[in-house]
Amino acid sequence: MSAIFPRRLLATVELGPSLDAHRRTHGPLTLPEGPSEVARGTLQRAMDAVGLTGRGGSHVQSSLKLAFAAQDRRPVVVVNATEGEPASGRAHALLLHAPHLVLDGAVVLASVLGARDIAIAVADDQDLQAHAVEVAIAERSERLRFSLERPPSRYVTGEESALVRFIDGGAALPTFRVERPSFGTIGRHRAIVHNLETMAQVGLLAAHGPRWFAEVGTGSERGTTLVTLSGAVRVPGVYEVPLGAPLGAALEMAGGLTAPVAAFQVGGYGGAWLGPNRVDVALDEPSLRSVGATLGAGSIVAVPATTCVLAEASLVVRWMAGESAGQCGPCVFGLPAVASDLELLAAGRARRTDVDRLKSRLEFIEGRGACRHPDGVVRFVRSLLSVVTAHVDAHLKGGRCAAGANAGCFPLPERVEVR
Ligand code: SF4
Repeated sequence: MSAIFPRRLLATVELGPSLDAHRRTHGPLTLPEGPSEVARGTLQRAMDAVGLTGRGGSHVQSSLKLAFAAQDRRPVVVVNATEGEPASGRAHALLLHAPHLVLDGAVVLASVLGARDIAIAVADDQDLQAHAVEVAIAERSERLRFSLERPPSRYVTGEESALVRFIDGGAALPTFRVERPSFGTIGRHRAIVHNLETMAQVGLLAAHGPRWFAEVGTGSERGTTLVTLSGAVRVPGVYEVPLGAPLGAALEMAGGLTAPVAAFQVGGYGGAWLGPNRVDVALDEPSLRSVGATLGAGSIVAVPATTCVLAEASLVVRWMAGESAGQCGPCVFGLPAVASDLELLAAGRARRTDVDRLKSRLEFIEGRGACRHPDGVVRFVRSLLSVVTAHVDAHLKGGRCAAGANAGCFPLPERVEVR
């Protein structure tokens, strides 16, 4: 029998995305009379009580961002709905089925902070999502300035500093930051940026309160999260699971596996890998970190044992190398070299010294980029090499991989234009 968890973020899936359906499901949104320390303090404490952190992969404490933005009288609230992770359907699910929950979160932040501007960023190739946002904004009556921003669709566009720079009129390129987390400005005002799932969680928290919010979840991380299951699962798609649910339970929701699995790729293309027997791993950040992974974008790809996991992975790494902003050495020189090393290994033409060289490259690249893009690739490759060791050894013995050609497990969007 498959696991069934009550939906929260996606509670309106059957009712539709209208404001009316949203209010009937979550009740009226009660906002403070105006910005005040009391209102902000209440929200900050609620965020901390449920352990709310950034669901876009940063896992920065949400209350910390709130406190930082509160140092400005008119901060700008930014909803990051760019979703550069090709294997994640989270933005699509939330914007098409629960846009008002996302907007509620932004409105709540604006109201406790005294912000007048809310920017919602949707990648320029996601017209359906952008339309859903426009329709939702048209239904709202708050006296706030909503703007829909359309940054170019690239992996690094979703990086917070790149997004803020774009909305501020610049190029959608990451800015070098000495300290992390750090925060950007739009015009003369501080920006408070949250991934759209985080924003929707703020909406839930405001509508239902921290006690209700904390009824599900695990340890200090309460609530639910969205995971996108694909690869060798019967019913691929976006599923809502309580934080701490085992990977196996999420797979059951997707109808189970269709074939034996070589490995699970978790957390997006900057994420990590889990061996085929790790279905007991809990889907929450501390548990995943304890096994070298991260929830990241919430994508989970079950790579079937009938395909060559190294060939699949090398396609992803080559694509990631092309997605860099081309500003820093580790990306410009390092990532293409890593992709070439992995391709050599996947083709069965590498020797042990080539693998050693690949590992040295990873050491050298890590932590040297202006943003975390190269670090994500390092994690992806390093984790791969440590999880599929038998497969690596088989390739080092040469010859063609018994698992055969790739099965196209990982979506790799074509980029028409480099911007
Ligand atoms: S590290 Fe890579 S992706 Fe990040 S800013 Fe530098 S070149 Fe661009």
